[in-house]
Amino acid sequence: MKHAPLVQQLITAFTCLPGVGPRSAQRMAYSLLERNREGGLQLAEALTGAMEGVQQCRRCRNFAEDDLCPVCTDERRDQALVCVVASPADVLAIEQAGEYRGRYFVLMGHLSPIDGIGPRQIGLDLLEQQIQSGEISEIILATGTTVEGEATAHYILDMVEGTPIVVTRIAQGVPMGGDLEFVDGATLAHALRGRRQLER
Ligand SMILES: [Zn+2]
Repeated sequence: MKHAPLVQQLITAFTCLPGVGPRSAQRMAYSLLERNREGGLQLAEALTGAMEGVQQCRRCRNFAEDDLCPVCTDERRDQALVCVVASPADVLAIEQAGEYRGRYFVLMGHLSPIDGIGPRQIGLDLLEQQIQSGEISEIILATGTTVEGEATAHYILDMVEGTPIVVTRIAQGVPMGGDLEFVDGATLAHALRGRRQLER
């Protein structure tokens, strides 16, 4: 039996979600159609709103609804201290730890040449501009301890060569091969406080 075209369209649309195959997508579509039309309409509205209204901060690349995000416009934060992370989820994890007073640079990924993800795809050209402009005094590399995270950290370390910028790395307490977003707040706060300067 074939689905009606609109039902099929909905099922196919759900498969764009991470980890959702055709079977789960069908279950989601049926559930909304059978029992929760209102929830479905709210979902549609929230999706449209977010997809059209959320952009990337032009300074740190984190999600923002304006040109600049609230962290980048906060004058009480040290705008010369930049913590480089892989994803907005990492920003959230560090913010929840509650101690960090600098700003961020959000890569939205890691360097991964095999997947065609080079420096430009993760915004390193923008970071390079900020490094060269002299607005940064310290970069904290918090790209995680996966192979890609390490490679990304080394790439950034090379970019800083010849500048007076201090480069530190949080590692202590972050498990090997680990992503930051899964580290608890107390450990993360400790790791940030105990960051070590990198030799170069
Ligand atoms: Zn920002």
